[in-house]
Order: sequence, then C-alpha cells, then structure tokens
Amino acid sequence: MKKLKKVLVAAVAAVVMMTSLTACGGGAAESSSIVFGTNAEFPPFEFVTSGGTIGDYDGIDIAIAKQIGDEMGKEAQINNMEFDSLLIALQNGQVDAVIAGMTVTDERKESVDFSIPYYTATQVMIVKDDSDITKASDMEDKKIVVIQGYTGETVVKEMGYSYESFKKGTEAVLELVNGKCDVVVIDSATASKYVKDNEGIKIVEDASAFEAEEYAIAVKKGNTELLNQINSSIQKMLDDGTISTLSVKYLDEE
Ligand code: GLN
Repeated sequence: MKKLKKVLVAAVAAVVMMTSLTACGGGAAESSSIVFGTNAEFPPFEFVTSGGTIGDYDGIDIAIAKQIGDEMGKEAQINNMEFDSLLIALQNGQVDAVIAGMTVTDERKESVDFSIPYYTATQVMIVKDDSDITKASDMEDKKIVVIQGYTGETVVKEMGYSYESFKKGTEAVLELVNGKCDVVVIDSATASKYVKDNEGIKIVEDASAFEAEEYAIAVKKGNTELLNQINSSIQKMLDDGTISTLSVKYLDEE
C-alpha cells in the first residue's frame, strides 16, 4: 500500500513537471503572449485608465495591439515605460514590438524596423485662446515647450528656436494653461485631446512648416516574421475601417 502511494506521488509529480515545462519551456518565438512597449502618456493613442482594453491601458494603439495579439492567437501585454527607453527595450528583447504613436524617422529606422504606417499626423502648436501666434515663425521670440524625445522636439530644434522640454504632454499643457509658456508643439491628435479637456487653449496649424508624420509599429531589426504578421493585421484594420472607427471613438471619448 505504502509502495503504491509512493508510485502514485511520483507519477503525479512527473505529470505536474511535464505540464509546467510545456507552459514555460517555449522560447520567445513560441511564447503565448506578445509584449508591446508603449508610453501611456499620449492620449488618444495610449493612456492609463481603470479597466482598459489591456489591463489598465487603453487607446487607439492599445486596441490595435489587442487585435494583433488576437489574430496571432496570443495574449497582448503592455510594458509601459518612458518614451525614450522604448527602442532600447526593443533591441534588448524586453518587448516584442513598440506601439506608441511613434513617427517613422530615418534616424529611428537605423535601429529598428517599422511596419506599414497606420496613422498620419503632423505637429501643431497649442496656444492660449488670445495668443498672437498664427504661424510657426511667430514662435521665434516665444517661450516654447516640447516633449522630450518626441518628433516635436526635433522639429523645433531644426527651426533653430530655443525651447524647454518636459517629460509628459500633460505637464507641458499645464505649463501653458498656467501661463508659464506661450506654445506647446505636439502631435495633432494628442493636441486635439488636450484642447478638448482644457479650457482656454486652442490649436494653431501651419502646414507649410510642419510635415506629415506617419505612425507605425516598431520591431527588432530583422524580425521579419513578426513584422509580416503585424503588417497583415494593420492592412486588414485599415481596409475594414477598424482604425478610423477607433480614431473617432477615442478622440470623442471624455
Ligand atoms: N509621434 C511622436 C514621436 O514619434 C510622439 C509619439 C509619442 O509621444 N508617443 O516622437
């Protein structure tokens, strides 16, 4: 009797071991989840909220990430970090892909591969309602605020204007609302969201000064398999109107 018990215990232990081996034995390629790096400070693309589409994260990008995961038969997870750390995290293998309203630039293309674009944006200026800024060159003698590491910073730098950079869009907008700066240069859809949520500020566009920017998902250089899967999901979401529906939904949401 005692012996049988021992055998049984050993058998159960073996099964448990085998099951756990199958559950966590796979390498990154066979993993049952796909980890997206983002910086959840960029509404309406990514922001923190309780009960979001993935955990406490929501937004256009988060919904896109969820759908890519679903189509791959994997659980999409979010790793929230500073915007400046995203591409390094991708190169280190800390995340599988980066979805962060990230503009495709030649400089970024040197370190990562980008998917097909899924959204077109541009830089705009957010100013106080009574501001006399009507075009980009009016910023010359003004107090300009940008967000660190965003394309808006590069654009203002290239214009040769001095500026102050903040870590978060919300901090920059607060600075403007409090009258501590004259203009915030940031991506168009995010600007719309901030203007909607704050009294007394408006958007000024200047198509001759700010070029169109395209958002895409980044993967580690050479990760063609994942890139192809992401591209086919994005193409599908562009074709069937999912992305435009998401854009309207998250921009209108209070
Ligand atoms: N589109 C801008 C960039 O790529 C800002 C992106 C973001 O803040 N998430 O730099």
